[in-house]
Amino acid sequence: MYILLMGPPGAGKGTQAANLVNKFVIPHISTGDMFRAAVKEGTELGKQAKACMDAGKLVPDEITIGIVRQRLAKPDCAKGFILDGFPRTVEQADALDKILAELQIKLTRVVDISVPSALLIERAVGRRICKQCGATYHVRFNPTQKDGICDVCGGETYQRADDSEATMKNRLSVYEAQTKPLIDYYQNAGVYTAVDGSQAIDKVFNDVINCLQG
Ligand code: ADP
Ligand code: ADP
Ligand code: ZN
Repeated sequence: MYILLMGPPGAGKGTQAANLVNKFVIPHISTGDMFRAAVKEGTELGKQAKACMDAGKLVPDEITIGIVRQRLAKPDCAKGFILDGFPRTVEQADALDKILAELQIKLTRVVDISVPSALLIERAVGRRICKQCGATYHVRFNPTQKDGICDVCGGETYQRADDSEATMKNRLSVYEAQTKPLIDYYQNAGVYTAVDGSQAIDKVFNDVINCLQG
């Protein structure tokens, strides 16, 4: 399974990717997670990414394409992967086509988790993430059993700095301008399916599985 998950910020890509990892036991490759790890480690990449992320802008294509190229070349990707949050521009999509052609990999499906923008700000602002294991929760839609404590590992949860209402507005306009054109891109490639991401998490997962197996 070579799965590409797309959708606006806060749509539920990471949540569905975690479900898919459990089902198919293939790596989850999230450019957002890779950038956050680099920020935490304080690397040069992290410094460059942080300024863009805090402003709700995209990290430059050159940098982003480079880290994805390196990651996809690792042996654990040969039998499948879930790409989440990449590509986000037509230039990144073109680069991905080239990388996959070199690796002789064809995408199984591009699954677009489609959510009306009116729901996205609440999803992002209420998002909480475990500091220790990265599990994703929502204060209202998917709360932890104990306030602020991860159900999986007992770690503390936190709110991403860019999950504020103001930054989300920028991220949503970046999505409209730069990422939405990829719907046509992948429709033309014949690999695109949209699922209704406004449903409950388990219903969305059902639809994702159906379009992968259909
Ligand atoms: P979300 O889950 O809300 O869609 P991500 O965790 O995927 O957000 O991304 C967080 C931030 O990381 C983005 O706002 C952007 O600054 C940066 N980023 C992630 N993926 C990419 C990408 N493919 N191209 C450029 N920037 C990216
Ligand atoms: P993305 O990776 O696309 O930015 P996430 O998977 O991190 O999105 O989800 C964003 C927030 O919305 C999280 O707090 C998550 O728990 C919540 N969420 C995800 N899917 C749903 C859903 N189908 N219904 C309600 N809330 C959801
Ligand atoms: Zn945890």
